Amino acid sequence: MRLLVVEDDRDLNRQIVTALVDAGYAVDRAFDGEEGWFLGDTEPYDAVVLDLGLPRKDGLSVLGEWRKTGRTMPVLILTARDRWSDKVQGFDAGADDYVAKPFHMEEILARLRALLRRATGHATSELACGPVLLDTRAGRVSVDGQPVKLTSHEYRLLSYLMHHAGRVVSRSEIVDHLYDQDFDRDSNTIEVFVGRLRKKLGADVIKTMRGLGYLLAPPETNGDASHRPR
Ligand code: CA
Repeated sequence: MRLLVVEDDRDLNRQIVTALVDAGYAVDRAFDGEEGWFLGDTEPYDAVVLDLGLPRKDGLSVLGEWRKTGRTMPVLILTARDRWSDKVQGFDAGADDYVAKPFHMEEILARLRALLRRATGHATSELACGPVLLDTRAGRVSVDGQPVKLTSHEYRLLSYLMHHAGRVVSRSEIVDHLYDQDFDRDSNTIEVFVGRLRKKLGADVIKTMRGLGYLLAPPETNGDASHRPR
């Protein structure tokens, strides 16, 4: 999952970005409204953390313009404490949630997890697909109840596939959602990551759809009619 943080306070920006990277996300950052608006308008983020008080273009305008041009990614706004009018205006402009400053980083992380899973149609923080279980809260993965150790890129890839289980995801889509903008992207490395994940998870959870991409789906059981011996 790839996120954007738009916050002009450099210390706070760095703290949020660090926490999000530690939690397994690819993260881009912007320090003013123009830059933030441009990135959100051109890159496919899974969610955005947006401060309202920003130089060059205020957060509400940024959000309003995104929504007007059909950018639907979940947006978590950062508001000043006790400014109820900020919250109302934020929601009216298209915000999905808010956190009031000062905040605990855990709250930002929890609210983002909730936004990400709701945006992809999941109700809980544990995502399951066949024997594979991904706990987005703890950042842990298990297969048949056995913990599996993943590198941060493997985890990021699996998390994206788990959030979009049952849908074919192309390699270029994966690249877009796995790396921040400064990363030297190479879609060939996706194949390598998928290979490693298959080894760790069991080969038949991630299916290759020739020419289309990958599909995460529960392994076919013996009860599947097409494979039943006659
Ligand atoms: Ca600010």
